[in-house]
Amino acid sequence: MSDFWWRPLTTLALLLLLALPLWGIFGLATALAVLCGSLLLLLFFHLRQLRELDIWLQQPEPSAVPHGSGLWEQTFSSLYHLMRLQSRSQRRLSVTLERFQDAAKAMPDGIVVLDEVDRIEWCNSMAEVHFGLDNERDRGQHISYLLRQPQFADYLNARNYSEPLLLKSARNRDTTLSIQMVPYGDKQKLLISRDITQLERVEAVRRDFVANVSHEMRTPLTVVGGFLETLLHMDRWEVQQTRKHLQLMLDQTHRMQRLVEDLLTLSKLESAQDALKDERVNVPQLVSTLANEAQTLSAGRHEIRLMLTSASGVLGSEHELRSAFGNLLSNAVRYTPEGGEITLRWEKKGGEGVFSVQDTGEGIEPHHIPRLTERFYRVDRSRSRETGGTGLGLAIVKHVLSRHQARLEISSKPGEGSTFSVCFPARRLLEQGA
Ligand code: ADP
Repeated sequence: MSDFWWRPLTTLALLLLLALPLWGIFGLATALAVLCGSLLLLLFFHLRQLRELDIWLQQPEPSAVPHGSGLWEQTFSSLYHLMRLQSRSQRRLSVTLERFQDAAKAMPDGIVVLDEVDRIEWCNSMAEVHFGLDNERDRGQHISYLLRQPQFADYLNARNYSEPLLLKSARNRDTTLSIQMVPYGDKQKLLISRDITQLERVEAVRRDFVANVSHEMRTPLTVVGGFLETLLHMDRWEVQQTRKHLQLMLDQTHRMQRLVEDLLTLSKLESAQDALKDERVNVPQLVSTLANEAQTLSAGRHEIRLMLTSASGVLGSEHELRSAFGNLLSNAVRYTPEGGEITLRWEKKGGEGVFSVQDTGEGIEPHHIPRLTERFYRVDRSRSRETGGTGLGLAIVKHVLSRHQARLEISSKPGEGSTFSVCFPARRLLEQGA
């Protein structure tokens, strides 16, 4: 017999035991009357407990479960435990839900939860930014009322979500979004948006780069191919003429070699797989060597001056710095007319180490200056080519400097000359020299 039955049966047995002597002493009627009275009291007691339960059920607060007594004590105590378990699992559920919402809010992608008829149920803050939605205000609105672009309406109606849709953001026309609908659960959908503006830009840069390289290669290849064809079809090779052709082909081959070398240097710097070497670079010595090389390059056409007012060295890659400084110097020689002056300086300014190349050349119009370090950007394409430029020199300089946490400053006046300065932060300087 279960525990439940013991108490009522014991109470009943006690009442009967009480009634028996009463029957013997006062007769059957008295005994029955006492028994009935006791049972009525018992009934009243149970009804009162039942009423308490009923009142509690109107507002079932776990902390306000009635205490009860007798049989009801056990029942109310079980109820209390059940309520506590339930509220604990409810708390756990709401914490999980909150965590999920926090995670969804922090996502870099926009998320809109749509119901079975495409009404907004919830959206995160990135979706608010992408689509101009408001999570509170727009709940229950049909998504097509708020995203009114025709391409989006077509995408929504086609019900084929295997491919993402590319869309200009309604809020900012410069932003491109990739939108993907993901059906889930019971006919619900997630609308996921991603800002791919940067990706598109990178892709455009890549396309331009391939186009530029092809263009740069095509001209010398056409020249070489043209001369080879001429030579092939000549009945008799005249030594003088042939030598001229071969010289031109050699010039074009050198041009392609320079281009390929610069491309390889740039790609090595860009891949940045090898960590920067921390060599002790003796800058005064490096700059003196470069000044001598500039004399050779200039072949006496310019006056080259050297001003070393600092003995500091730099922590970095000697090979890369030689290439960067060399590019600045060769530009000064190439863009300064005969008779001009070129001054190389290594000095300390405001705690920084500054290497600069100043020329009295043709100078640069201000609007070109911010774009000079872009790959293949030239102020005057034919002037650059005539002097053997590849259009990659300053792009290489920029990469080398960024690996050394240094910056490039350009100041120039058209017709008067330019100064290109490389500024190294104090933490890269070696005070005692290298
Ligand atoms: P390039 O091989 O064409 O010289 P760079 O990247 O070295 O390529 O330079 C980009 C452009 O910047 C050059 O084409 C030129 O127009 C301009 N430039 C660079 N240095 C100087 C300078 N010292 N004086 C005038 N213009 C310069």
